[in-house]
Amino acid sequence: MSVDAKQLGARAEAMIAVLAPISAEPKRLVRLFLSREHRRAADLTTSWMRESGMQVTEDALGTLRGHWGEGKRLLIGSHLDAVVDGGNYDGPLGVIAGILAVEHFHKIGKRLPFSIDVLAFGDEEGSRFPATLSSSAACAGAFEKETLALKDRNGVSFNDALKIYGKNPAEIPAAAYKRGDALGYVEVHIEQGPLLEAENEPLGVVTGIVGQSRWRVTVTGEAGHAGTVPMTLRRDALAGAAAMMMMVERVAKANATNNMVATVGRIEAMPGATNIIPATATFTIDLRTMSDDIRHKAIATIQHEARGIAEMRKLDVVFEPFHEAMATVCDAKLQETLAAAISGLGHRPIKLPSGAGHDAQMMAKLCPSVMMFVRCRGGVSHNPAEYASPADMGLAVAALIGFIERFK
Ligand SMILES: [Zn+2]
Repeated sequence: MSVDAKQLGARAEAMIAVLAPISAEPKRLVRLFLSREHRRAADLTTSWMRESGMQVTEDALGTLRGHWGEGKRLLIGSHLDAVVDGGNYDGPLGVIAGILAVEHFHKIGKRLPFSIDVLAFGDEEGSRFPATLSSSAACAGAFEKETLALKDRNGVSFNDALKIYGKNPAEIPAAAYKRGDALGYVEVHIEQGPLLEAENEPLGVVTGIVGQSRWRVTVTGEAGHAGTVPMTLRRDALAGAAAMMMMVERVAKANATNNMVATVGRIEAMPGATNIIPATATFTIDLRTMSDDIRHKAIATIQHEARGIAEMRKLDVVFEPFHEAMATVCDAKLQETLAAAISGLGHRPIKLPSGAGHDAQMMAKLCPSVMMFVRCRGGVSHNPAEYASPADMGLAVAALIGFIERFK
């Protein structure tokens, strides 16, 4: 039976439409980890998995595991949770693509030399607790016990939320796959960026997930009267911080070939009055790129240049790191397999890094992993306007089927 991408796209679109209204609020999408909406989304997904020929179990973190076939396992997954007021495609598309691919093989009675587990994770976005990727961490055997003590906005601990959901936190270690039993992991996800649209291609092969450094920078000068202190005698912390921000942008632009991006997303000036020269300015830097080495070098350059700016303006500057994530490189062989599947559909497989975090970066700790990106309109995500066309989603499922056929 040949693969009808158009029909698969229509199916994916219809399934996403059924999942979309499962929200804690009627007017915007709120689907948090271990909530009643998580339960409803999981129950619906379980029924789809069963209809597609899978046996479904649920692990200690509420991750669904739809199993089909015999032998060691190829894992296909993504997540059912969403950011508050997010869109309908980020996460569910990957779960649905897995289900539709398995359904294809099940319907034609094909036997594969390996089995497939479709995984529907519940905590990718970290929208409820101050932790992300806890579901895939448990599957990869990388769950950190400290996570259980974290509390949500209402003071409910991760541990208690699991119990309320009917889970036993003591069983979390059992959620981990045995090394060697998991042959590989593949995740289909909307791109969340504009590159595929710019390339006029529906599908991309993800080369890796960028590493990330986040820093808090505090610049200290001296407060003074906005009317009486001459410009030459000022130690204006905010003006110094502004010069540093322009420098951060320059460093990132100079590393364009490394796909480096740097963002100053928060700034605060004290005392924060119209007629007082700012005494302190605090801002954040979020810097991402595929190479950990290049990222660390860029951070060193930024610190060096910031000290130069501070010295010139008679200011103090202090850097404090508050988040550090290593880059994850997607498996080279699986990238080639995925590229071949996309080429097989008559499309150009665009290679691109992921600037956002994904479950694949956890699963890469367990087994060779790769991701396929699907073009999304305007590169928009984490927004109700998020959209992927049925045609592109159909091609994604067809490419996933082609990937499974080629997988060794
Ligand atoms: Zn996602």
